[in-house]
Amino acid sequence: MRVLKYIIFALLFSIVSGFFALRTEIVQMYLVEMQAEQILNRPSPLPEEDSLSGLLCGSRGPLPSVGTAETCILIKAGERIFIVDAGDGSITNLRDWGIDLGKIEAFLLTHTHSDHFSDLADLHLNAWVTQNRTDKLKVYGPEGTQKVTDGFEATYALDYKWRYEHHGNDVAPIEFAGFDTHIIDIESSIVIEDDDLKVTAFLVDHDPVKPSIGYRFDYKGRSITISGDTSYSENVIKHADKTDLLFHEALSYRLNKAGATAAYKVDETGNLSTVLIDVLDYHTSPTQAAKAAQSAKAKHLIFYHLIPYPEGLVAKMLFFDGVNDIYKNWTIGRDGVMGILPLNSDKVKITYID
Ligand SMILES: [Zn+2]
Ligand SMILES: [Zn+2]
Repeated sequence: MRVLKYIIFALLFSIVSGFFALRTEIVQMYLVEMQAEQILNRPSPLPEEDSLSGLLCGSRGPLPSVGTAETCILIKAGERIFIVDAGDGSITNLRDWGIDLGKIEAFLLTHTHSDHFSDLADLHLNAWVTQNRTDKLKVYGPEGTQKVTDGFEATYALDYKWRYEHHGNDVAPIEFAGFDTHIIDIESSIVIEDDDLKVTAFLVDHDPVKPSIGYRFDYKGRSITISGDTSYSENVIKHADKTDLLFHEALSYRLNKAGATAAYKVDETGNLSTVLIDVLDYHTSPTQAAKAAQSAKAKHLIFYHLIPYPEGLVAKMLFFDGVNDIYKNWTIGRDGVMGILPLNSDKVKITYID
């Protein structure tokens, strides 16, 4: 009985003293410092082993959806890291996941629709000020990309200046602010070819957005192909030939039409229903994307740039109806899905960052 009294007393004492300790600045500072240290020390979710991998940092098209970012794919080939497209919310994802943006070798743009580059300024800032860059951020893209990077540089000129003046040249070196832009010669199609890595670009069909391109990464016998925004394209199939992992965009005609009908009922004069119908002609349906994967003999397909992002079971059933009849090895894209291709292997490992 006496022991029980001591235990109760000790418990009460620790609760009361803990309560008062939590109200002191020194304890509060210690706790938030610990928390910050934990965040900064997060292990990278990217594979450490020598491999080729593709991480979806943004899985949807421009139609908004809670908890998903616009288009973005991070490619890791050995130690080299590239970002293909960076739509709204995608760079926040990468930061939340503890990706070191200072290590990004280049940004590759598929085309000049804003849902593919609206986070480029955020990517630039996080690669420039928070890390030690030794050159400007390289950008590769089709014709029109220079206009995008020139525009960002003009808009952010004062931002670059203020940060340089405030933090100094060691932290924010003004000579490395902005972009080193390379326009891809689509005739030669080769974007990067050195050591064990080859990156090729190919034309896709996203009329009237011309040129629009997709990318293929080949690294030590493994490959990842990215469709970019396109309607069903034989050129995607040709360039994705026997690829290990195909990221293919997809738009559900049914969900879009349902959205257009609902938008029209809510507001007959609004633009939304018109836009939802307009976009039907320059994207690929989920069954067409499955057919592209099957025709290319791709080992695995990750659907991305989902329009609209299918939330809930019914929407997913409608979105992917018929896909299994055409192609079996597929994954629904969501932010944090990663395909890892180990070397000297046929395996495609699909993992998720929560
Ligand atoms: Zn798009
Ligand atoms: Zn587009």
